Amino acid sequence: MPARRTIGVDLGGTKLLAGAVDPGLGVHHRAQRTVTGLDQRTLLDVVVDAVQEVRDSSGEEVEAVGFGIPCLIDQRTGIAVIAVNLALADIAFGDVMAERLGLPVFVDNDGNAAAIAEHRAGAARGASEALVMTIGTGIGGGLILRGEPYRGAIGAAGELGHLVIDMDGPLCQGNCPGRGCVETFASGTALAREARRIAGQRPDSGLARALREGRELAGPLVTELAHDGDEAAIEAVQLIGARLGVAITSLVNIFNPEVVVIGGGVIAAGELLLAPARAEVARRALPPSRDIVRIVPARFGVEAGMVGAAALAFAGLEELAA
Ligand SMILES: [Zn+2]
Repeated sequence: MPARRTIGVDLGGTKLLAGAVDPGLGVHHRAQRTVTGLDQRTLLDVVVDAVQEVRDSSGEEVEAVGFGIPCLIDQRTGIAVIAVNLALADIAFGDVMAERLGLPVFVDNDGNAAAIAEHRAGAARGASEALVMTIGTGIGGGLILRGEPYRGAIGAAGELGHLVIDMDGPLCQGNCPGRGCVETFASGTALAREARRIAGQRPDSGLARALREGRELAGPLVTELAHDGDEAAIEAVQLIGARLGVAITSLVNIFNPEVVVIGGGVIAAGELLLAPARAEVARRALPPSRDIVRIVPARFGVEAGMVGAAALAFAGLEELAA
């Protein structure tokens, strides 16, 4: 009998990651695409192409495809209603993909997918109450409550990135109508913006030098410079971490989780990001919740969404077979 595989696809606001995954959640073949600025039609073509690439290189039979998409999904109808940072709206994403790929397709919000991966086999394993935040172009979120993914009344719950931390704050990014959401303050997009601002104030810093050399001050470069010890880059990362901690404080007070898992591209900053987040929670959150919560990096790192999407496909296949 051939080894079983599903393909997990994490569709982010900037990047797509796809991988062939085994039932133990080991990743075997990967494909990556940039999706910034694509219209919906082109985006769907790119998604299909990436899945085909993984399928062709896998060598094993692929049984299903799971998608984590950065969309608010109405699970009653399967319609991806809106995406904050991507051109996807009012589309039966799963049906469209199933038809184009000729495989069973399972779709969930990208934050939920990351939460499922971390809960099944990662940093939230064994937890009854766990929160997962993925810090990338935006901030995704997933809730594990009573050991199960929590999706709300119609499937749109867990938008932890749109927790408001400043009532009169700036308009949220993309298609969110809110103001002062933590996503505007602590996403990878915000990290890049703060890094540019700090570079302007500190012309001798590594950040400013990188900017003068014409390099793009996006999240990956800022975290790299921070790890290299550039004080300005460290300041930018710590600011983002502290803001994240303010949002986590509210979540800790509401949910009393055992663990808060941080994933997404920005977690490449590691402790430089997490230490200030923990400090804010320790200072602001209510006892006893604040005293038991662990704030930790995602085990699957930037691949949590992709692995979770594959896990979703395995779970979906089991349900079909039952
Ligand atoms: Zn928002």
